[in-house]
Amino acid sequence: MPELPEILLRAREIQCELAGRTIQALEIVQPKILNMPAEDAAARIAGQRVEGASHRGKWIFCRLSRDWLLINLGMGGELLLHAPGDALPEKVQAVLTFADGYRLSAHFWWFGYLHLVSPEDLPEHPMAGSLGVDPLSPEFTVDALAALLAGRRTRIKNILLDQRRIAGIGNMYSHDILFRAGLHPLRPANSLSEEEVEAFWRAIRLTLGEAVALGGAKFEQNLHGEGGLLDMDWFQVGYREGEPCPRCGTPIEKIKTGSTSSFLCPSCQAE
Ligand SMILES: [Zn+2]
Repeated sequence: MPELPEILLRAREIQCELAGRTIQALEIVQPKILNMPAEDAAARIAGQRVEGASHRGKWIFCRLSRDWLLINLGMGGELLLHAPGDALPEKVQAVLTFADGYRLSAHFWWFGYLHLVSPEDLPEHPMAGSLGVDPLSPEFTVDALAALLAGRRTRIKNILLDQRRIAGIGNMYSHDILFRAGLHPLRPANSLSEEEVEAFWRAIRLTLGEAVALGGAKFEQNLHGEGGLLDMDWFQVGYREGEPCPRCGTPIEKIKTGSTSSFLCPSCQAE
C-alpha cells in the first residue's frame, strides 16, 4: 500500500512530466472511482491544463486550470504514462488523454479514487478536506508533535496512523518509526517524556526521508513502471518476526495492536 513517500514521489513525477499538458479526454472504465457521473467528469475535465501537482497524506492533488483532480491509489495501483502509440495495460479503470497524444492510465488493485473537485468545494471534501499535518513539512515541528500527543491517552500507534492528525503514514512505515524511536506502539500519547517526543519526531522524519531518498518501495511503480529501491531488507524490525533485533539481538515479535499488527523489539521498545 503506497504511503506518504510513494505518494509524494508520484506527485513530483506528475509535476515534472504532466504540468503544462492539456487534457483532451477522460475515459472511464469503472465509474465507481469518480465523485460524479462519468459523462459529467469527462465533459468538465476536457480542455483543462495540468498546472501542477502536490501531495497531502495519501492523496495526490493535481491542480488543473479550473478544478482539482484528487487521486487516491487505495491499497495500491499504478499510474502509468504512455507515449503516443504505446499500448495501454490490459487492466485500467481510467485513462486520461492529453492533447499531445500522451496518455495516463490508472489501475487500482482494490479500490481507488479520481475525484474532480472545485477549489471552493475542496475544504468540504469528505476525505481529503480533513487531513492532518504533513510529517515532512516545515509545520511538523517537535512542538507540533508534542501538541498532538499532549493530554491524550490514545495509543501512539493510533495517533501515528490517524490521517486527521498526521497525514500519510500507514502500517508499513510505522513499525520502523516506532523502533527507531524506542517506543512501544501501545504507549499512551500522554506518557511520553520530552526526550521521547523528540526521538519520535526524529524517527518519523528519518524513516520517511530515507524512503523518499530511495525512491519509495520496490513494489510501487513510478509513472514509467519502475519500482523504488526500498525492499524488504531495508526494514529493521518491520516484517521480521523471530529475527534478532539489530540493536540488542532479542527476537522481534509480532503483536496485535487493535485492527493492525505491529512488529517490535520487546526489549528496545518496552511497554
Ligand atoms: Zn532490541
